[in-house]
Amino acid sequence: MASESVNQLHFLLIPFLAPGHTIPMIDMAKLLAQRRNVTVTIVTTPLNAIRYGPTLQQHINSGLPVRFFQLPFPATENGLPEGCESGDALPGLHLIHNFSAAVDMLQQRLEQRFDSLKPRPNCILSDKYMTWSDDTAAKYEIPRIIFDGMSCFKQLSTHHLYASKVFDEMPESEPFVLPGLPDRIEITRAQLPTEFNHSSAAMHEQIERVRETESRAYGMVINSFEELEQEYVKEFKKLKGGKVWCLGPLSLFNNDDSGKSLRGSSTSVDDQHCLKWLDSKEPGSVVYSCFGSCSQVTPPQLIELGLALEASNSPFIWVIRAGDRAEEVEKWLSESGFEARIEDRGLIIRDWAPQLLILSHPSVGGFLTHCGWNSVLEGVCAGVPMITWPQFAEQFLNEKLIVQVLGVGAPVVVHWGLEDEFGVTVKSEQVKTAIKTVMQVGPEGNERRKKAQALGVVAKKAIEEGGSSHHNLTLLIQDLLEHANVISQKPLI
Ligand code: UDP
Repeated sequence: MASESVNQLHFLLIPFLAPGHTIPMIDMAKLLAQRRNVTVTIVTTPLNAIRYGPTLQQHINSGLPVRFFQLPFPATENGLPEGCESGDALPGLHLIHNFSAAVDMLQQRLEQRFDSLKPRPNCILSDKYMTWSDDTAAKYEIPRIIFDGMSCFKQLSTHHLYASKVFDEMPESEPFVLPGLPDRIEITRAQLPTEFNHSSAAMHEQIERVRETESRAYGMVINSFEELEQEYVKEFKKLKGGKVWCLGPLSLFNNDDSGKSLRGSSTSVDDQHCLKWLDSKEPGSVVYSCFGSCSQVTPPQLIELGLALEASNSPFIWVIRAGDRAEEVEKWLSESGFEARIEDRGLIIRDWAPQLLILSHPSVGGFLTHCGWNSVLEGVCAGVPMITWPQFAEQFLNEKLIVQVLGVGAPVVVHWGLEDEFGVTVKSEQVKTAIKTVMQVGPEGNERRKKAQALGVVAKKAIEEGGSSHHNLTLLIQDLLEHANVISQKPLI
């Protein structure tokens, strides 16, 4: 007897536990749950549910079928401090393997309670680093779709790097052309993503596991939109047999001030104060400087950045995250007289800023960014040109896309030098020059601004009805429904 046809989808979302990974997945959960006959469950831990709860709650209240499924996190069992449930809460990188071990233990905890998930999930959508979900998907015979959190530009670059192995022979700092790409992009080995630059055997093992599970995945969803990187999307889709869906920019699914502000973490500044401050500045005049959720720039390097913001003469918002060296920075801020000197022109935010709220304010005219992919897309959506200062991972590749392919940014560093004895690689003069390049009102600056504004308009259109990302979500849902129906019709042996 043939089973009934499947017309409902229940997505089980499994984000990696770090803000740059969880935030876009939560946005995706809201996006999916807005579609008819779709239910979404997000697997997380108690403290993350508290942290991201407010952003989801307003949608639950409005009737969207989306919820958290909480699994206790084995922090202390793995030698982590109590309450350490997120990558950005790690006291130091030496605990990264303990964190991975704790994350892996979530598999058993989920599977013990899998049967309580109703209706039964028919798709796992998981972060690429939640590799254990590959086994879970196989065990319950449901497709696993990967959310990688990065662009098709990065995917394609990585694919061709692996295939060609050009980087193997290269000295650290000699530029070479990235193979197989539609544009001519030069990079050095030192600037390649972590998978090509790791030093430990444990890291190598983890990277190989990610690659292996990725090759078995049903498909991939990308937080990007086709118009942003058309050629790269096309090529990457070809490589993946068509099963690639660009659904972004996901941040645009926060369209009111409270959604923009609640996203990610409680902010360390009063939103109203921040908005009033921005209101008091000229349109397009403010530089917003933020290095994401986990980069910890050394205090001497932060001081160079602060001096550059001051010397740029632009009004600025400076988000400072100095982690366990925050005291040193505070000391400098007060003893050097910096905070007093910039009082009228600068707003300092410690730790966590309402980034989306700030970027979408018309006074912001430039974004000094570490080039994390979420930040890049948020800058694109806001239509502001970027001052790029990549730090690690795939951020150097993102910089190439912003500066060389899209033409909406200027780099802080063109030729990277070595760190000095104080941990400074980039001098304030270089940062100031890049800020001035982007903020200037001459022909070059105007051209860059125009391009950035135009991209912002295209980004917004992509998620509207009839837009490319909106359409891709329809295709993804259709594909999964067809798949679920094929599976359900298979005769039981
Ligand atoms: N973010 C924020 N306020 C902050 C720092 C970061 O809202 O003070 C958000 C930012 O909007 C983005 C995410 O955190 O959505 C950071 O992700 P990204 O990929 O840019 O960088 P990562 O933190 O992963 O390096």
